[in-house]
Amino acid sequence: MPQESILIRGARPWGLAHDADVLIDNGRIAAVGPGLQAPGAGRILEAQGCMVLPGYVDAHAHVDKTLWGLPWHPHQAGPTLIDRIENEQRVMKELRISSELQSARLLRHMVARGTTHVRTHIDVGLDMGLSYLHGVLAMYEAHRDYIDMEMVAFPQTGVMMRPGTLDLLDQAVQAGAQVLGGLDPIGVDQNPEGQLDGLFAIAERRGCALDIHLHDRGEVGARTLEMVADRIRALGMRGRVAISHAFCLGGLDEARLEQMVELLLEHDIAIMTHGPVGGIPFPPVRLLAERGVRLFTGSDGVRDCWSPLNTGDMLERAFLISYLNGFRDDPGLEITLRMATYGGAQLMGVQDYGLTPGCTADLVVVPASCAAEAVAAHPLPRYVLKRGRIVAQDGQALLPPLA
Ligand SMILES: [Zn+2]
Repeated sequence: MPQESILIRGARPWGLAHDADVLIDNGRIAAVGPGLQAPGAGRILEAQGCMVLPGYVDAHAHVDKTLWGLPWHPHQAGPTLIDRIENEQRVMKELRISSELQSARLLRHMVARGTTHVRTHIDVGLDMGLSYLHGVLAMYEAHRDYIDMEMVAFPQTGVMMRPGTLDLLDQAVQAGAQVLGGLDPIGVDQNPEGQLDGLFAIAERRGCALDIHLHDRGEVGARTLEMVADRIRALGMRGRVAISHAFCLGGLDEARLEQMVELLLEHDIAIMTHGPVGGIPFPPVRLLAERGVRLFTGSDGVRDCWSPLNTGDMLERAFLISYLNGFRDDPGLEITLRMATYGGAQLMGVQDYGLTPGCTADLVVVPASCAAEAVAAHPLPRYVLKRGRIVAQDGQALLPPLA
């Protein structure tokens, strides 16, 4: 696609203490500094002191089963994990959800809100087979110019409790999922050795990373982390495993938490929290960030059978994590913005991500004077750029209408 050169004039790039211009050419940042000249045919965006941030990274989403764009659907699930899984299976059938259409609706909304990269978990199981994955793959073919996406084959309905699921996960990786997911090896499957050995065997065979949902709390979750670490060590998979939610890290005494931190650092396990609602314990974000544990975040399910509350806005997500953690100071607020940008980009292995010359021009222009204010106010982006093209303006995605 042809690229026009763009000069963002009078901006405040994150990390600089003064205003600067950002020159974009051929899809990349060509220069950052004061008084840059716009090339002849280039377009000028007057930033008027807005910040320039790297594109937001929603590194834990579930775009395949969102109800976004459909009439409001009251939340009807019971309180337990199994209640929610069963409720979702029923609603998906009742509403005849199309993963291709629903993921397209949500992706467009995410673009409008400044997201340039998504890691999405996609349900794979005996009920849907690979059909959701095929739906999202078809959607992504039509949206590659607007967003980068990584897919996780996710066993939402369990692994060992549903024999045949491991084979389907293996097939999903061969069909295009880049990452392999898991789900509460103890709490759901009651067979942690079976699930983890099965997942790690596929990951080793296919050379893919792992990203495991772990809702199990307290010692059950901590024991699961140790079992994950044993397998990382045995297979040499350091830095290739992420744990999503990790509620257990929020419910341990100081000595046990310290053991877990050492484990996460030794095996370079990345941790995702999206800031769970309803008094659920969650990982101690500031402590983990200060100790150097890799952190990232994501929307999780956006208006789906798991929750109607999430919106797919990553600046709002950073705000919510800050709110939940009681962060008031600028460094605290910046931790959450890093989770929603650099943390997710590192997890996904995004090359040339950032705000320096040579980086891909995946950028958000947002009305705020500093990163902390951007999180606190979480305004809509004025412009969103993907590979140097403007793909959203004032909260509206600039995409052709859905067919
Ligand atoms: Zn999830």
